[in-house]
Amino acid sequence: MSIDLHMHSTASDGTDAPAGLVARVKAAGLSAMALTDHDTTAGLPACAAAAAELGITFVPGIELSADMVSIAPANPTGTLHILGYHVRHDSEKLRRVTESLNVARAARNPRIVDALNALGVDITLEEVEAEAAGGVIGRPHIAAVLVRHRYADSIAEAFKRYIGIGGAAYHRKDNLSAHGAIEAIHEAGGVAVLAHPVQMRCIDETDFQRRLERLVEWGLDGIEIWHSDHQPHHTQQYQAAADQFDLIVTGGSDYHGERKTVPLGAYEVPEWVLERLAAVVGTSA
Ligand code: AMP
Ligand code: FE
Ligand code: FE
Ligand code: ZN
Repeated sequence: MSIDLHMHSTASDGTDAPAGLVARVKAAGLSAMALTDHDTTAGLPACAAAAAELGITFVPGIELSADMVSIAPANPTGTLHILGYHVRHDSEKLRRVTESLNVARAARNPRIVDALNALGVDITLEEVEAEAAGGVIGRPHIAAVLVRHRYADSIAEAFKRYIGIGGAAYHRKDNLSAHGAIEAIHEAGGVAVLAHPVQMRCIDETDFQRRLERLVEWGLDGIEIWHSDHQPHHTQQYQAAADQFDLIVTGGSDYHGERKTVPLGAYEVPEWVLERLAAVVGTSA
């Protein structure tokens, strides 16, 4: 059986409630899952309870947004997300960090909406908030509103035209260094893993090595090698990097329900990954 260690619920920008997500995981024939919502642990208790009931092995997780400038000051391209596995959902340190990240989101979201309005795109912050329905507000919520109002045909197009990196209304939000993200995950008892490295958009192999070296210096424990954005050659490259730096490997679909096209369980992640993951809990804090 395979497992899926990367997915989002309505606590952030997924469309399945934490408990409902577990039923989908079960229906997909997976034996284990991790919930990795952006910058919140709010969905973990309900998800853990549902997983226990349905006999799915559950790993409590989080995906922290970190500032690329902290590892690539001269060339801060792309996205830097750090996954935390086996984190305590009620960690005080993690609570402080996620609170600060959400303050940064609250400052950025109106900026994006203002920029869209200036482009003649008539949507409101209230519509975006309603779309998020109490979850951590992210750009996929803005994208969904854009699609509903027919400013874009798909979520992907909304990112490309408007709110993705290079889009006309793009605004960055990151205020947490990768060092702070790794430290917070460790203090919460967790394992820190570089999410979807391909999204860092490194200019070349040397650039990738330099970024990874900095993360390893700061205590990174693993690399997500299987991901829906990775081609087989990416997985090979990141596996080699994991071997080189003695890191564990993880993987998952990055399922977001209806806000992304990728299904649960994409990229069959082997069950042995769970044992390696559990073995490093508490070894690097
Ligand atoms: P935010 O946390 O608000 O910066 O938004 C990040 C979320 O947007 C992540 O869940 C990404 O999966 C999603 N995202 C980023 N770029 C794209 C894209 N081009 N198409 C679809 N979703 C994207
Ligand atoms: Fe997301
Ligand atoms: Fe991510
Ligand atoms: Zn994700």
